[in-house]
Amino acid sequence: MDFFNFKGNSLFAEDVEITSLAKEYGTPLYVYSKATLERHLNAFESSFNGKKHLVCFAVKACSNLAILNLMAKLGAGFDVVSEGELRRVIAAGGDPHKVVFSGVGKTYSEIEYALSVGINCLNIESEEEIETVVAAARKLGVVANVALRVNPGVDAKTHPYISTGLKNNKFGITEENAFDLYVKMSKIDCLNISGIDCHIGSQMTSGMPIIEATDKIVALYNKLLSAGIKVDHIDMGGGLGVTYDNETPPTPSEYIAPILERLKSLDVALYLEPGRAMVANASVLLAKVVYQKNNGDKHFVITDTGMNDMIRPALYGSWMTIINSTIHEDIPEVVSDVVGPICESDDFLGKERKLKVKNGDILVVRGAGAYGSSMASTYNSRRLPCEVLVDKDKSYVIKKRQTFEDIWKDECIIK
Ligand SMILES: *Cc1c(COP(=O)(O)O)cnc(C)c1O
Repeated sequence: MDFFNFKGNSLFAEDVEITSLAKEYGTPLYVYSKATLERHLNAFESSFNGKKHLVCFAVKACSNLAILNLMAKLGAGFDVVSEGELRRVIAAGGDPHKVVFSGVGKTYSEIEYALSVGINCLNIESEEEIETVVAAARKLGVVANVALRVNPGVDAKTHPYISTGLKNNKFGITEENAFDLYVKMSKIDCLNISGIDCHIGSQMTSGMPIIEATDKIVALYNKLLSAGIKVDHIDMGGGLGVTYDNETPPTPSEYIAPILERLKSLDVALYLEPGRAMVANASVLLAKVVYQKNNGDKHFVITDTGMNDMIRPALYGSWMTIINSTIHEDIPEVVSDVVGPICESDDFLGKERKLKVKNGDILVVRGAGAYGSSMASTYNSRRLPCEVLVDKDKSYVIKKRQTFEDIWKDECIIK
């Protein structure tokens, strides 16, 4: 559910007409709906049935400061995967005590920074990383809260690039090694064994893989408990999917209920790290139609928005819904490839879409909020897109469109 709906023949973001936003701010334009963001966070927050929990928004899905600030004000924690993301959270007013830090390649300086700001938990992904955490904790004279990211060997049944819980993925520590490493960590005085972490993949549209993973994590929890190692939280990661086309993922409460059921008798808090499910359909990307042409049998709708602004179709072959913000009743529908101006053949937003389009129309890519602006680049020396947040009948710029000079401002000509 979102707050992008037609009134008559024109699409609105909450109470603001999409075409008026395009006119005011230009295109490409990311438009976020505040009410949708609030709704999604509340859908998570209200699903824990009194169980202690922490919802850690995965910053990489959408890292705009205004969005992070909104989430922080609503009480969310954050999952970060780099020092830059952690600094962003702090710059946005987020509380480092509610931040977990994941990632296979955390460097010493990133770990030291995270410990210095009092991070909630470091999710350690290799045996060697333990040594780095110990070194940083000793240097700072602090006790580091840690979890191991366990790879439960569960198939998330999603795109291979976003599946992370299989044995041949680079992520996490295998189930077989996890127990021994916990025992090893429990003997180190500057480590506090805080949790067990896992994250098995993204865009999961069935609840089964996470249930399978929970069973494995609970088994590890019990095994650790019998060895005298008691963790205070279980982190089941992110990965809940959304509807891009006709997928029918579980709702947050349907997704969380069976996890809670399995943790019912355990004295642990449940952490989750949702990214996509929180922000995907809270934003649309506006693209203006510049030209149309036929090459042989194909009709192309050429827009001013390319793979640098939205890389998901090119990178994962993702299907994203594209609609016209204005419904035309007077022109025929044409099956079209919607493409951008970039010099790459995979620069498309959608292929073989039935559209009624006139030049100058504002096309709307739905579900653009997750891995949209956060993956945008300046490829082809194109400026990063402008972003606005709509709150009822008002709109606010939350990221200014770059100037051209911004694109090359860090580059130096050798004298
Ligand atoms: C990317 C990521 C997430 C968020 O995944 P979504 O599919 O967007 O919910 C959560 N945790 C970790 C460790 C991640 O890498």
